[in-house]
Amino acid sequence: MKVISQSVIEARKDKFDLRPALEFVARHRARYEAGVRALMSVESQPVRNWSSLPFTDIRTLEDAGVNLGQHDIVEVVSRLPEVFQNLSQLTTMDCSAAAQVPVPVFEPDGTWKGKVEMVDEDTFPLKGMHPTRILIGRSTGSTIFPTALPKSVYGGVRERWLYQLHVFLHEFFHSMEYLRRDRMTRRDVQLELDGAPFTLDDWWMRWEQAFTAKNQPKPPTRYAGLYIGDLNAETYEKRPDVFVHTLAEQVCESFVGYLLGIVPNDEDSPDFKAHSPQLWALMDQLARSTFISG
Ligand SMILES: [Zn+2]
Repeated sequence: MKVISQSVIEARKDKFDLRPALEFVARHRARYEAGVRALMSVESQPVRNWSSLPFTDIRTLEDAGVNLGQHDIVEVVSRLPEVFQNLSQLTTMDCSAAAQVPVPVFEPDGTWKGKVEMVDEDTFPLKGMHPTRILIGRSTGSTIFPTALPKSVYGGVRERWLYQLHVFLHEFFHSMEYLRRDRMTRRDVQLELDGAPFTLDDWWMRWEQAFTAKNQPKPPTRYAGLYIGDLNAETYEKRPDVFVHTLAEQVCESFVGYLLGIVPNDEDSPDFKAHSPQLWALMDQLARSTFISG
């Protein structure tokens, strides 16, 4: 049996340490605030009545620590480029887990089991539990489940709010792609840019090509880097469902970077466009396009 050193095990678990992302937000707080101001200075152009989007367990969301409220979410979504609002298949904000922390459960060798333990924000971390290794946010494509960002990860309220905005936007992109993970469904989504028609699948294939190429772009964020080991031509061939999931994480994080202009990365770059020019350009194509049907 191969013996794995404790430092290797801890390093694996530390990939789920959210504190560096919050420290990044704190270091670049002014840039974040500018990003939020730019996003909110766009005129509200709701393509549907977002204020009637059902929020279940809204009291839980309101009573939880730091998160985006219903008003914040409606204000943000109604200012997104129209194509994103049209592509979204979001039908429900399920806030039942808004005051809970999803804690990753690890194998003895430090790899993630793919499971979480839900812990009340008020009691997190439980005895023996690491205070900053957590997961955050979840969606099914049509439902987004906000979860808590406890103060043991980072004390600053505004930093946590800014990161919850990041998480919400990330999950919002899942509402555009998650239910369209087969090629035929993506081909049914018709778009147009500068008079040229294309499908959502045409666009998605450019991401596939980027991440299976020899000169693979670096992951847009530290979080996206968690999955980079599975983003290669071999996984694309042999485990297509793993590939589409890992690619979607790159796309969702790039979406946040495109909208806010900044996302946490290991290079400490405060400018997403400069950090990930290829990913920025791909997202810009979709952002400027028009939704036709699908
Ligand atoms: Zn995701």
